[in-house]
Order: sequence, then C-alpha cells, then structure tokens
Amino acid sequence: MTALKPLLRDIVPSAWPERMVALGAPRYRGRQLAHWLYDRSATDWGAMHTLPRDLRERLADSHDPAGLEPTIRRVADDGTRKFLFRLRDGQTVESVIIPMENHATFCISSQVGCAMACRFCATARGGLVRGLTPGEIVEQVQHLARDLVDDPFPQHGDRGFNVVFMGMGEPLDNFDAVRTALEIFTAPEGLGLSSRRIQISTSGPPHGLPRLAELDLPVGLTISLGGADDADRRKVMPVSGKAGVAEVLDAAAEHARRHNRRVTIAWVLIRGRTDHIEQATTLAAVTRDRPFKVNLIPLNELDDDDLLASEGASVLAFQRVLTDAGVPAFIRVSGGRDIGAACGQLRRQMARPGSS
Ligand code: SF4
Repeated sequence: MTALKPLLRDIVPSAWPERMVALGAPRYRGRQLAHWLYDRSATDWGAMHTLPRDLRERLADSHDPAGLEPTIRRVADDGTRKFLFRLRDGQTVESVIIPMENHATFCISSQVGCAMACRFCATARGGLVRGLTPGEIVEQVQHLARDLVDDPFPQHGDRGFNVVFMGMGEPLDNFDAVRTALEIFTAPEGLGLSSRRIQISTSGPPHGLPRLAELDLPVGLTISLGGADDADRRKVMPVSGKAGVAEVLDAAAEHARRHNRRVTIAWVLIRGRTDHIEQATTLAAVTRDRPFKVNLIPLNELDDDDLLASEGASVLAFQRVLTDAGVPAFIRVSGGRDIGAACGQLRRQMARPGSS
C-alpha cells in the first residue's frame, strides 16, 4: 500500500507559520490554516476559502485535510454515545461520549488495537495494528465536540467536556503521537483546552513509565494496576505487568508530586480473581498515605469470555477495606453496556462475520 500523507492535524499549530514560509507563503497563512482546522473544524480543502487556491493545491500535494470518517453512531439507554471511525487505511477506531453530572467526557483511542494483552479487555484480543497519528487523535475530539454541539445533553448547558485517553490502545506505547496531540489540545491556537480537563489512562508498561516524566503538562493520570503484588499483576496484565507494583506506584507518585494532582489507581473487579479481601488489604497497604485515590470498576463483561464482574456485596466489601484503611475508594460503573461501550467491543463486533 502506498504510504499515507501526513494529516494537517499531525502538525502542531505553532509550526505552521514557518512551514508556510517554506512553501513561499507569508507566515500569517499558518495562523489562517490553524483557524480553519481548530476554530472551524474544517475537514476539506474547499472550506478553507481564505487560503489562496494555489497554496491549498501545494498543501494538498503533501497533506490530507482529514483522516477519520464516521461510520457508526450508537446511543445507549443511559445517554452514552459510541462512535466507530474508519481511517484512511481501512482500519477502525472507537470513541465514546459519556454524559456526566455537569459535563461530558470524551473517551478517545490512541492506537488501533493494543499490544498489552490485558486479560479483561476486548481491544487486547486482536493485538496491536498500529499507533494513531496525532491528527487521528485530535480529529476524534473534534468529531465528538461537533456531535455534542449538534445534539447537546439538555442537562449540561455549555459546561464543556473532558478528554480521557481510555479508549483503544496504550497511550504510553504511542507516546510521541499522544504528546503532540496534547500540545494541539492545549495550544491557544489549537483547541485551547485546559490540561486540567485531560486525563491519560495507562496500564503502566515498563517502557512507558519513564516517559511519564516527559509530560510537562499537568494532565490527570489514571493507572490500571491489575494486582496489588507483582505476581497478581502479571496474571491480569501479562505485558504491562513486567513493571512491578512498586515501580508503577512510584512513577504515579512522582507524577502527582510534579503536577500537584492526585493520581487515580483503577482496579477492575473480576469475580473470584481480583475481588478477594486479602487483595484489598494488600492494595490498601501499598496505596495508603500516598497521593492516590482508588476507582473500583466492576468488569465490563465480554460476550466471548468466562470472566465475570464481581457481585455487589464483594464490591462493597472490597471498598470497605480500603476506606477503613484511609484510602479514598470509589465505585465506578462503566456506562453504555447495551451498546458495547467497553473499549474495543464495538470494533470487534463489527469485525465479526455476519455483524452489522
Ligand atoms: S486495557 Fe488498555 S492497555 Fe490493556 S489491552 Fe486494553 S487497551 Fe491495551
């Protein structure tokens, strides 16, 4: 297959004035282009009519104006909206809009598939296909933002949205693209989002943890632990678990210290596997008196697997051990179960023969 051209949104807005000079155009054309891309969400050359036609033609020789085509939009009973986008090479990725109490959360993907093989995850099943480019990451947010403008949640008014990297893929396994996307998200001439509204969710792979130190934005961090000791963690997260619990929690604590933001430890509750009281006791011991809170997430069950979500009583008992030890612990239930909102489920359903 011929190589894809870079997307216009693969490039940070601050680089465009210089690039325009290289194309023989004045610097201010770079600001005009950024205006079309981020203030007006333009996705075709024809829309960018303040740029001279010959400049658009020169840009089109080396760039594509858009890389995502929305193919599926499903709305769950609880209001969660799930989207499947087709990429230029025919691959697909998912994004989700989750209605919260007074804002919306956009859950976006960083890779097609994932190499981390976490036991509880639908995305893990097909392995990694490729990392998304910065533009493919940014376009997800712009599509979701447009959807929210066209069809707002009535109770939210204009309270805006948060962005979480909690869809398909391990963001620290595609770190350079994620970092460029973060720059575009937060740049005033990009999407102008506050980094306080952005959350990176990671399984804490060994090769990714050192790169957390390169994140110079105070974005939120969620780390999925999988087990409270190294052996348990490796059982649930065979690839990321090569980084031990102490290593992961030390990196998380360092992020919390640098950015003055408490880190969330995500714990997926799988019946009979990760919901034993002894595991809660160990988890309390390793998280107590540190800048963490714990989110307890009953497994979003997959339809081709025998793993089950923990029962209500076990969830509450697990939480009680943590709170009794002074660790803030909250129960989170993922929305959109009726539309397969767990990461990777919709894409997998669509890839099966006979699915529609
Ligand atoms: S949970 Fe996240 S890191 Fe683990 S396999 Fe799924 S997408 Fe990858």
